[in-house]
Amino acid sequence: MNTVTRPRILVVGAGFAGVGCVRRLERRLAADEADLTLVTPSSYQLYLPLLPQVASGVLTPQSIALSLRRSRKYRTRIIPGGAIGVDLASKVCVIRTITDEIVNEPYDYIVLAPGSITRTFDIPGLTDNAYGMKTLAEAAYIRDHVISQLDLADASQDPQERAARLQFVVVGGGYAGTETAACLQQLTHNAVKRYPRLDPALIRWHLIDIAPKLMPELGDKLGRDAQEILRRRGIEISLGVSIAKAGPEEVTFTDGRVVPTRTLIWTAGVVASPLIGTLGEKTVRGRLEVTPEMSLPGHDGVFALGDAAAVPDLAKKEEGAVCPPTAQHAMRQGKVVADNVIATLRNRPLRPYGHKDLGLVVDLGGRDAVSKPLGVELRGLPALVVARGYHWSALRTNVAKTRVMTNWLLNAVAGDDFVRTGFQARKPAKLKDFEYSDAYLTPEQLRAHVTGAEGQG
Ligand SMILES: Cc1cc2nc3c(=O)[nH]c(=O)nc-3n(C[C@H](O)[C@H](O)[C@H](O)COP(=O)(O)OP(=O)(O)OC[C@H]3O[C@@H](n4cnc5c(N)ncnc54)[C@H](O)[C@@H]3O)c2cc1C
Repeated sequence: MNTVTRPRILVVGAGFAGVGCVRRLERRLAADEADLTLVTPSSYQLYLPLLPQVASGVLTPQSIALSLRRSRKYRTRIIPGGAIGVDLASKVCVIRTITDEIVNEPYDYIVLAPGSITRTFDIPGLTDNAYGMKTLAEAAYIRDHVISQLDLADASQDPQERAARLQFVVVGGGYAGTETAACLQQLTHNAVKRYPRLDPALIRWHLIDIAPKLMPELGDKLGRDAQEILRRRGIEISLGVSIAKAGPEEVTFTDGRVVPTRTLIWTAGVVASPLIGTLGEKTVRGRLEVTPEMSLPGHDGVFALGDAAAVPDLAKKEEGAVCPPTAQHAMRQGKVVADNVIATLRNRPLRPYGHKDLGLVVDLGGRDAVSKPLGVELRGLPALVVARGYHWSALRTNVAKTRVMTNWLLNAVAGDDFVRTGFQARKPAKLKDFEYSDAYLTPEQLRAHVTGAEGQG
């Protein structure tokens, strides 16, 4: 009998970082050199930067959900579920499968890439009344929700209800929030033409942020231009303002304004996945503190990257700088982590991660965009071509590229049909329902679970 066991490499999370790592491991390791396993709740990698375009109906949800089983060459075993705790001492990852069974998965090497969840604050009513923009289900839900507000306002005889249903609030002036507000405003702007009973002037979009500027990464001039574009389109921008209170039918801003609305979209930043908290290790603002090689000090064979980890940013001069949570970094880190896992396996030196930011692209819907590739400031059509060209080329598969391009062309030529699918209409729609942020074990529960399982084994 062959008693030689292969090292077990477990990758947690199938996002930019996790998939980048797994594909590289598959390519660079011989099939008999290690067992590869991936834990992920979904069977696709989500191309998050195009999520606002799903919410606005420019793209179909399937076009940005890249299959993890597209090729026969993909040989990694996939466990459909989410990791709810990792016990570093016994090298066991506890997983809740999609059918709610709890299983223990032992590993020799673990790569933690569970990404991030929406960051919330202790604001009364926020988690019960706000929608996020982090998952495919949220984007699809928000699209249906916004169209349903138009439908309900159109049917209502009550002028107050009509006005409330046609006001929308987006919190967060980073690229995610700005793109979301811009793309959804485009959706309502185009849709209202099909509702002859609705007065377009009643539709009001608010974009608010506690910071003094929108998307500070764009710099002063381009940032002002982006604001100007949005203001021209009728989006009311309030800076230095946040939410004091959120209710089902109104939102109170910190400057005292009370806005009657049924739509609060919260995109005010992200925080590392709660999985990181189960490790009981040092963090930097919630992200796992790792070395420039993305390994966890004091724990052989543990790596972390992407939004979940504070990877030192070697391209920046300031001491303690960490890579921002962007797809640009996550996908590149995935490749370097894979090389470092292989180097560890083969007793070779690890290499540090270094990447100079390529800039920012912001698609504001329709023909509006601003971009700053490699420091060059672009607006209008050139910015749009760069933004779409960048995302298009970053999609991993040719099928996804074709779907996205076809959707863009079809939308440009034929527009939208503003159809509500209703699939999620009666499901709970809180932030935690979409992001499963309350599914995790505490470090104590984790220890008790793993030692209990060891005792039984
Ligand atoms: C609306 C929006 C627009 C954005 N636009 C841009 C942009 O233009 N440019 C840019 O560079 N970045 C952009 N970003 C940020 C970028 O998407 C993230 O930085 C990037 O996705 C991080 O990659 P990641 O692999 O760390 O996490 P993710 O891509 O989020 O992947 C994490 C994966 O882990 C899975 N997962 C989560 N928890 C668990 C668990 N417990 N167990 C197992 N699996 C788990 C998730 O389902 C997911 O598949 C945007 C983000 C959003 C939300």
